[in-house]
This record gives sequence, structure tokens and C-alpha cells, in this order.
Amino acid sequence: MTGPADILRTAARRHPGRIALITATRTLTYRELDTAAAAVAGGLRDRGITPGDVVTLYAPNRWEWLAAYHGVLRAGAIVNPANALLTAEELRYVTGDCRAAAVITTSALKERVEGVRLVVDLDNGGDAVGFADLLDAQPLEPAEVDGAGPCTIAYTSGTTGHPKGAVQSQYGVLVNCALTATMHARREDDVVVTALPLPHVYGNVAVHSTFCAGGTVVLRERFSPEDVFAAIEAHRATMFEGVPAMYAMLLADPALATADLSSLTRSTVGGQTIAVTTMRAWQDRSGAPLLQVWGMTELSGHATTHSPHAPEVLGSIGVAYPGVQIRVADLGDPARDAPDGVRGELMVRGPVVMLGYHDRPGATAETIGADGWLRTGDLGYRDPTGHLFVVDRKKDLIITGGYNVYPAEIERVLAGHPAVAMVAAGPVPDAVKGELACAYVVLRPGETATADELIAFTTPHLAPYKRPRLVRFVDRLPATPSGKIKRRELAGL
Ligand code: ATP
Ligand code: MG
Repeated sequence: MTGPADILRTAARRHPGRIALITATRTLTYRELDTAAAAVAGGLRDRGITPGDVVTLYAPNRWEWLAAYHGVLRAGAIVNPANALLTAEELRYVTGDCRAAAVITTSALKERVEGVRLVVDLDNGGDAVGFADLLDAQPLEPAEVDGAGPCTIAYTSGTTGHPKGAVQSQYGVLVNCALTATMHARREDDVVVTALPLPHVYGNVAVHSTFCAGGTVVLRERFSPEDVFAAIEAHRATMFEGVPAMYAMLLADPALATADLSSLTRSTVGGQTIAVTTMRAWQDRSGAPLLQVWGMTELSGHATTHSPHAPEVLGSIGVAYPGVQIRVADLGDPARDAPDGVRGELMVRGPVVMLGYHDRPGATAETIGADGWLRTGDLGYRDPTGHLFVVDRKKDLIITGGYNVYPAEIERVLAGHPAVAMVAAGPVPDAVKGELACAYVVLRPGETATADELIAFTTPHLAPYKRPRLVRFVDRLPATPSGKIKRRELAGL
């Protein structure tokens, strides 16, 4: 084995009796999880899954998901992680696109599955093959796989359109998890609480970077502030990992007042732009650094992380992982580097870069140049100390009266207003200016604010053309299954 499946095998040999995973239903040692994975690999082989087949994991966060992930990889097959929130139609798109041979799912979700040779039911119900049958199989010696070959076909979050299947390599995923473990100084006594969905790269890296260090993952099926606070307290967690919307919800929740966060030594955030005021609020309340990570499905996880030793550049995504190159390409002439402090498109090269989009040679060629640099579509800059900052996605630009406005600039300011729990900005069509910037705001429980008040609040911080012209108060913001705000759906609110 040469990929992420090695992480569990190595951990099980080094510290078999340590606790790898705690879920609502089970606590497993590394040995127990490793044994389950070996049996699943055997069970899949017995049922005709051969190296190179694609197996979709379509289930919420539970321990069997991880046993299945490692079982599929040990059988030499390719994992297609699919979020459990996908509808039947979305699942059909994904399994059809990557031509999945099998789907491992739950009793509740399996009626949505069609067109595959094998269906495995984690709850052992009905006529599908039960997961218990796989666990009874003869364990399989891990298949020999090519480290440069495919490991996962992971679909992007679909924040900006139809999800694309990024083919991640064995080395890419392995290296990403190992580098994340090193960069965050993860330790065997770390206890990491997360509700990030396992199919998302961030969730996968949260688990496997912790496994690299022999730590314990406390995996929650669904995010809710009370549940996270309870899990941190009950397990004396040392880390929490989540997307910006989760931090906004934790900070707006009444349970924050009494939560005991004293065991946390650091937290991580990534996946979307976050306001520095939100980061500072979490740091103040948890008494520990909030490390920002930046990455993409196409990068098998993260490519940068901020360090707790650079508090003066809070809001930075930090520096590139060792072995990962990042350049800021000049917007006019992408062959040239933008000078320090000047915005350009972030480009990445290195072992974490995907092999390509599955079955999309055109999209792959547009994204990865012949020289190996991947265009991220993210706009950012490097400061003179070498720290990187993300401004926003290039695609999300609002053009109003000929001026360019990035929604993140508006969001960062309004997130600092005391009545604002969550905010997202987007364009609304305007006959005169083409587009106007509109802020969609969720207020904190019990708070009030008017549109004029919020617009006035931005005055000292934003040039007149960048200020939102409209504010709409909403109950919630549309999100992807991985918890990211979908700006593209704001206009329908
Ligand atoms: P799709 O590509 O389908 O539209 P997506 O880009 O949201 O969806 P992911 O691969 O999950 O899919 O997310 C990667 C993107 O998330 C990055 O390109 C970037 O825009 C954003 N992102 C990740 N980390 C950060 C961060 N720390 N700050 C700002 N944006 C981030
Ligand atoms: Mg993307």
C-alpha cells in the first residue's frame, strides 16, 4: 500500500490499543478499526469488487464509513465519497459520472441508489448485502497499488455550479494528511472534535491527519452548537475543526455562555472566507489559536495553514505546505508573478494536485497547465513576510457601475456588527449599474438592526462603491452539504 490506507495500518501497528475513533454509537481502538477494514476488503473482493472498481460511500458520519473507506482502498478499489445529503438525482449524477460498481449506504438512503452491481447496507436491512456480512469475511492482505495512481474520485462542493469529480492520487491524499499532521503539530494525545462530513476533503484530512499522529477523533454525525460544546466538554477535546458558518453559529448560540472550552489548544477553520472579527471572537472565547487552512478538493485537502506563531497576520491563510509551490499569478499576464501585496490568482503545483477531473479532459486542461500549475480560481496576495491571503473567488466578483467588488469584503465588515450572526453578499441586477451589491443578513437571536444602520456601519470601512446598496434580513443562508454558503442561491431568497 502506498496511499492513505497506510495511515490506519501504520497507526494500528504502532499503537493498537489507543482510541482511534469515538462516535455516538461506538468507540474503536486502532486495532479494531484496522481489523474491520481488513474484513471489509475481503468481503468486497468476495463479492466481485476488483482493483480499479469505483465504490461510492453514501452515508453520514459514522464509524462504519471509515472502516468501509479503508476496506475499499485495501481491496485496490477507488473510493467515491458522496455526501449523505445528496438527493437521489444528485447521487445518480455522481455514481453515473464515475461509473460506480458498488454503493455502500444505509437502510434509509439505499432506495435512492440505482444502476450499480452491488449495494451494501450499513444497517444490514432488507435484501442488500449487510455490512455485518462483510465484517465476517476473511481479511484481505492489502492490494499493491501505484502511489501515482487514483485513490479517490471526490466531487467538489458545488458552491459555484455542478460538482466536478476530482481524481485524487494515492500519494496526493497521503501527503496532504501527513503534512497537515506536521504543520498542526498533531499529537497522540490530541482529541479532535469535528462534524465536518467525511466525504469532504476537509473532513477526510481532519480524521487522517489525526490518525497520522495516533490521536483520537470524536466524530459527530451532524453539526449543532450544543452537540459540539457537549462533545468538547465530555472528551476534554484539544481541537475543534469546522467551516466558517459553524464558527458563526457557535458564537451566536446561547450555550456559548456556559460552555467549557478550556481543554482546546487550537482549532482550525477553512473552506470559505472568514471575517477576522469572527476569528478573534473564537480565539478570545476558547483561549487558543484558530488556525486558518486553505485548500480545495482538487488539492486533495489543504495547501496552506496559518501558524499560531504569527498572530500579527490573523486572517492570513499562512504559508504553503513544504513541497507545495504557490504563486500569485498576475491578473493581466498570468505567466508573471504579481508583486507582493498585489492581488492575483493563486496557482498551486506539487504532489497534492489532483490527476485531473474525471472524464473531463477539457476542464482538466483549462485547470492544470502543461507546466503542472493548477489554477485555483481564488484571488489572493502575498504580503512582504511571505504570508498568503485569500480575497475571494474570482467568479464571485460583483461588477457595479464598472467597479469590481468582492462579496467577501462586505461580509468581513458586516460580520463585525454586534447584531449580525451570519452574512453573505451577492449581486442583484440593476438597470443603471448592471449589478448592485446586496447583503443577506441573519440576525443574532433577540437582536434587531435596520438596513440603513448596517449600511452606515460599513461607511468607515468600505469605499463608497463597495458598500452594499441593499440589505435583506433572512432566517438562514443556503448552504452546500459541506456547510458552505452558496452565494449563487442568495438571489432567490
Ligand atoms: P465548486 O468547485 O464545486 O464550486 P468548491 O470550490 O466550494 O465548489 P471545494 O473544493 O470544497 O469546492 O472548496 C475549495 C474552495 O473553497 C477554494 O477554491 C476556495 O474558494 C474556498 N476556500 C477554501 N479554504 C478557504 C479559506 N481559508 N479562505 C477562503 N476560501 C477558502
Ligand atoms: Mg472549486
